[in-house]
Parts: sequence; C-alpha cells; structure tokens
Amino acid sequence: MSESVKVAVRCRPFNEREKRQNEIKILDIDASSCAVTIKNPKKQQETPKTFTYDYVYDDNSKQIDVYNMTARPIVDAVLEGYNGTIFAYGQTGTGKSFSMEGVRDVPELRGIIPNSFSQIFSHINASPNKQFLVRASYLEIYNEEVRDLLSKTPKGLELKEHPETGVYVKDLSNFVVKSIQEMEQLINVGQKNRIVGATNMNDHLSRSHNLHHNS
Ligand code: ADP
Ligand code: MG
Repeated sequence: MSESVKVAVRCRPFNEREKRQNEIKILDIDASSCAVTIKNPKKQQETPKTFTYDYVYDDNSKQIDVYNMTARPIVDAVLEGYNGTIFAYGQTGTGKSFSMEGVRDVPELRGIIPNSFSQIFSHINASPNKQFLVRASYLEIYNEEVRDLLSKTPKGLELKEHPETGVYVKDLSNFVVKSIQEMEQLINVGQKNRIVGATNMNDHLSRSHNLHHNS
C-alpha cells in the first residue's frame, strides 16, 4: 500500500475581480516536482518558499485530470473494500465546491462527487459476479453543529467515538442507493437542506465536503 494520507493542492484561476484589479500571481506551480513556490511581491529580495505535495494542480488543470490522478485511486481502493475519504479544505472562494461538485450538467466541469458516482456504478455494473452495497449519507457542519441533510427534521447530531470502528455521527441517516440517479436524487435533497446554498459565492463561511462510501 502507498502512503495512507495524500495531499493535493489546486490553484484556481483569477476571478473577474482579481483580473480587473490586475492582481499578480504569487504562486508558481511545478507539476513535475509537485512543488508550489510562493513569493512575496512586496519583498522581491526575499527568497521564495517552496512546498511539495503529493499532487499539485495549476490554474489550467482540468476536472477530469484532478479526478483521475487524485480521486480515482481512492475510489478504486473503496471498491476493493478499503475505507477512503476525500476531503476539501480551504478558504471560501478558493474552489472547494468547484472541485468537489463542479457544474453537474456540463460534462467536462463535473467534479469529484459526480465523477465518483459514475466510477462506482460503472464498476458495479461491470462486476456481475460480485455483490456491492452502496449507502449514502450527507451532512453539514455549521456553527459547530452537525446537521443531517437527508433527514426530514435536521437537528444537531452528536459526534461519538466507538473503540473499534472509530468516530461516527449518532443517528445520521443513510440510504441504500442502487444507481447514479438515486445518488443524484439524494444530493439534490441534501443540497436543498444546506444552510448556505452552494450558489451563494459571497458567504464568508468555510465549509468542507466529505464523501464516504461503503462497498
Ligand atoms: P469554495 O467552495 O471554496 O468557497 P468555489 O468552488 O465556489 O469556492 O469557487 C469560487 C469561484 O471560483 C466559483 O465561481 C468557481 O466556479 C470558480 N472556480 C473555482 N475553481 C475554479 C477552477 N479550477 N477553474 C475555474 N473556475 C473556478
Ligand atoms: Mg463552496
């Protein structure tokens, strides 16, 4: 097995405001060495700092490449029975939702979540001699409160720890899903129950996206 935790860094392109204000790019991303170099534009004489990661993606990166390199191996492992988590972290406006969800109706802009649904169900449909069980949950952490987005009555849930199976959310609902369509339906239900809509780009709250599958 390779390293169990891997870190990918993705830099998004400038948005319209940043372009208008002639912002300067302070990051240099080198895919061949997986390095991100950051320079301080106000202190030209300062030596730029370089950090290396498992994967780096510059502002030209394509959703499908991010998926194939970073997410696909995790979903592959899940389909073989391992646990896997894909977690996006970053300041608001940095591209978490774009990377995780993307634009669902534009094939080349689909993010990690819809691409993983496709991978999961095409694998299952191509494996007639194996049995799989796919269950989905969808939660949001808002103001320190865990909210079940698939519950008819979302209320604060408790975070617990089991000595053998680890951390879990007590009473979190989960649904057995048998197709991409059923999975997408759940996403739509959950999306509507989110406190801060995905389309509200100006929110100042940082959120993260989490995806768990059991096979
Ligand atoms: P976050 O979820 O981290 O708050 P978003 O995913 O909503 O950030 O991204 C902020 C804005 O930048 C959105 O308009 C999004 O479409 C755009 N964006 C983010 N990443 C990219 C990218 N890699 N390529 C093009 N546009 C992007
Ligand atoms: Mg977001």
